[in-house]
Amino acid sequence: MHPLSIPCIAMALVNFCVGFFYLYLSVKRPQIREYLPFTFLCFSFGFYDVFAAGLYNSSSVPDGVFWQRLQLDAGIAIYICWTWFVSVFTRQKGNRIIQFSIAWLSAVFLILLFVSPELSLTAANPAVKNIELSNFPRITYYEGEVGLVYQVEILSAAIINGYLFYLLVRNYRETRDKPLLLILASQIIYYIVMANDTLVAMQVYSFIYISEYSFFFLVLAMAYTLLDRFVNVSTALEELTVNLDRKVNERTMEIEALNEHLKHLADRDGLTGAYNRRFFDEYFEIEVRRAMNFLDHKARLGPGRESDMNFGLAMIDIDRFKNINDTCGHLAGDSVLQQVVEIIAKNIFSRDVLFRYGGDEFALLLTKTTGSGILQAAEKIRREIEEHVFDFDPEHECRHVTISMGLVVFDEVLHKESREILNSADGRLLRAKSHGRNRIIHNDDA
Ligand code: GH3
Ligand code: MG
Repeated sequence: MHPLSIPCIAMALVNFCVGFFYLYLSVKRPQIREYLPFTFLCFSFGFYDVFAAGLYNSSSVPDGVFWQRLQLDAGIAIYICWTWFVSVFTRQKGNRIIQFSIAWLSAVFLILLFVSPELSLTAANPAVKNIELSNFPRITYYEGEVGLVYQVEILSAAIINGYLFYLLVRNYRETRDKPLLLILASQIIYYIVMANDTLVAMQVYSFIYISEYSFFFLVLAMAYTLLDRFVNVSTALEELTVNLDRKVNERTMEIEALNEHLKHLADRDGLTGAYNRRFFDEYFEIEVRRAMNFLDHKARLGPGRESDMNFGLAMIDIDRFKNINDTCGHLAGDSVLQQVVEIIAKNIFSRDVLFRYGGDEFALLLTKTTGSGILQAAEKIRREIEEHVFDFDPEHECRHVTISMGLVVFDEVLHKESREILNSADGRLLRAKSHGRNRIIHNDDA
């Protein structure tokens, strides 16, 4: 084997490996459209190197012409793939010059299949080159004279390459993509190498062909550029994903906070901050059912001491509230409502719930305490309000306010509907009013 064919085989192996790697990438990521032309380009370079090795090892003109022809054909494939690659790489969709170039190169390739050997390549026109280089074994290229159609093909490729070079320079100006400089550098090297190979072929001087080395440099430059772009895109994508995740989280938290706030607004009375009537209707129904389940269970366990898991509903109404509005004004009335709520809130557990039932009427749901505990809590609230000095308008007698209360402890109304319990509490409140106000009625005896 000729020693100069060894680097050709080595480069062919590398080109095939890179080609297979990009074939794998183009299957995995078909959306990156550069991968497929680059794959074909690598394979074309690989075959070109193999055919070059064949030429080095040829020992007769017909042998050499066989490899030379294959090498020239692989060269055409390289130019077609290179044009395809640059057009994708520089985003030349619809570029007529590119379309024409690929069509022209393909057409000449087809013509080569049919023209007479004199117009393409034949051993009948030998052009054997003996090259003596110092420190190198003697090299003999058993070649044929390159025919007219191949000459047209090589000239066309050189012109098309010039246009592709222009597209790459323009792309570099737009993107300032540093690795692109490597491709441009390899293109310049390619031109120098092509000049050498043409002059060698024309036997202007005696030297070896070096196009396969320049092609190899081109493959490395392109592989590096594509990988660099891929890494950049992946990094940008990662950053985008992280940013997107953060934004989604922020938005979710904002929406949650907003929902919380809306729920608060929807459930609360705007003036006093107590829960509103709408919420009472929902909540009371559920609470009654829960209380009934519990009391039911307790009743089945048999009679025992007073349960400390009782539930109570107090309907509270401010006495003669209209007078406060009339004598001290509506703002004073509003303030009374707010202060009454504050006093009640101070005297109940956090598990107890206060609702503004409407106007100056409130519903208080007392939970998890004994029947007597409920009564004590109600009495404490009544007394505190009676004793409280409301901090407005010292001129008028609006400084003192009383409330009346109708109280129901659930275990006395076991198995009654929520509406009946509510009516019962309301009825007792009315009786508290008719019995002189500022009092609590908690049974139906009085
Ligand atoms: P009673 O002792 O029988 O309850 O007499 P009262 O004057 O309190 O009569 P009632 O409870 O029917 O009066 C409720 C009054 O509350 C009537 C309405 O003008 C007043 N009111 C209702 N909502 C508001 C409010 O948001 N602010 C103020 N300032 N007054 C209100
Ligand atoms: Mg009232």
